[in-house]
Amino acid sequence: NPRTPLASLSDDDLAGFLAEQRSAYAALQSRGLKLDLTRGKPSSAQLDLADDLLRLPSSTKDRAGVDVRNYGGLEGLAELREIFAELLSVEPSQVVAGGNSSLSMMYSTIVDFLLFGGVDSPRPWSQEETVRFICPVPGYDRHFSMLASFGIEMVTVDMHQDGPDMPAVESLVKDDPSIKGIWIVPTYANPSGAVVSQEVAARLAAMPTAAADFTIFWDNAYAFHHLTQEEAKSADILSLCAASGHPNRPIMYASTSKITYAGAGVAVLAASQANVKWYLGHLAMGSIGPDKVNHLRHVEFFRDAEGVRAHMRRHREVIAPKFAAVDEALTTGLDGLEIAQWSHPTGGYFVNLDVLDGTASRVVALAKEAGIALTPAGASYPHGRDPRDRNIRLAPTFPVLDEVRTAMAGVATCVALAAAEKLVADRASGV
Ligand code: PMP
Repeated sequence: NPRTPLASLSDDDLAGFLAEQRSAYAALQSRGLKLDLTRGKPSSAQLDLADDLLRLPSSTKDRAGVDVRNYGGLEGLAELREIFAELLSVEPSQVVAGGNSSLSMMYSTIVDFLLFGGVDSPRPWSQEETVRFICPVPGYDRHFSMLASFGIEMVTVDMHQDGPDMPAVESLVKDDPSIKGIWIVPTYANPSGAVVSQEVAARLAAMPTAAADFTIFWDNAYAFHHLTQEEAKSADILSLCAASGHPNRPIMYASTSKITYAGAGVAVLAASQANVKWYLGHLAMGSIGPDKVNHLRHVEFFRDAEGVRAHMRRHREVIAPKFAAVDEALTTGLDGLEIAQWSHPTGGYFVNLDVLDGTASRVVALAKEAGIALTPAGASYPHGRDPRDRNIRLAPTFPVLDEVRTAMAGVATCVALAAAEKLVADRASGV
């Protein structure tokens, strides 16, 4: 399907292309679609895979004979911590199994830093004049809105295919003690699908930082969420940091939100012994213990780490075809026009679509008018502002396969129409 790049068409041919896209769009609108690609939610077929949980646990006691129906055990069930320790390549004693949300654990960690300071903090972050975080972009919108809600400033760096732009990160942390943290989604990042390489992880672990309590928020939400047989292995950030003399620098998070049930799974935190003690010390002021019944039913359901890996292969069978459908629709609709680029993720929940600069908001608005809900343009940037207005996050897991095909063919039409409109307008105004 060799097409001419849109920008190189003559004025007449471009006008012809625009007319074609307008009629394709009118046809799309007349279908009265109602499709939603906004959030990375598991589909009901994926949730069904975990329905044995509804009949578990079969026992009321954990391995040690403790009644899981009662209070206690703040750090979580030992057998569940062991499973996650193996999966995350850490020690069981470094793992806390908590409630149903890793995002909540990130939130309470940052609140603890603000109110009390961390293990290596000279004072609580709230007593600093300014607190800044490095935010690789595009990134996870909820990370950014959380920081904004705390008044923490965000400094962006580019996210590359092997992780954040390290020269930029290293120069920011070196001299500026107000830079206290960085968000990293190390495996199949939201939304780019990037996997942090061993080399980048080693640089993050070793780099000198002006702030003694600089913290890597290592959000491994998609650690096990492979889309191909080639399963990316997450870098071992805890060991790398410990070996570089910064044992308390990383705090790792993961959850079963996209493994069992989103909202009724189990979240975990993993960190140095000192950080775990610090976290649990503050947690103890607000909790008498986690939901051990949920912990136990997850242990019975998975049995062991291999059980989690096997379960994730069943997810892959459900969602890999949806990611293939996204790629196929975008290739069919846009290949060769040089108005869009998109990621080819090998795991995770998203496809990152970059359209012609200055058209992302228009694409999302056009899609909405045609009944296709997309994540707002700019969502993957702090304060929702994409300086180039070109980035769109696609989340294809929730709709059924046929709907993904229909929606994505529609999105391709919107991308082409918005690009043609922009090029025509630019030429008219002599840009
Ligand atoms: N981190 C990332 C990168 C995410 O994409 C999400 C959303 N699934 C979360 C955290 C939230 O996870 P949880 O359900 O465990 O709060």
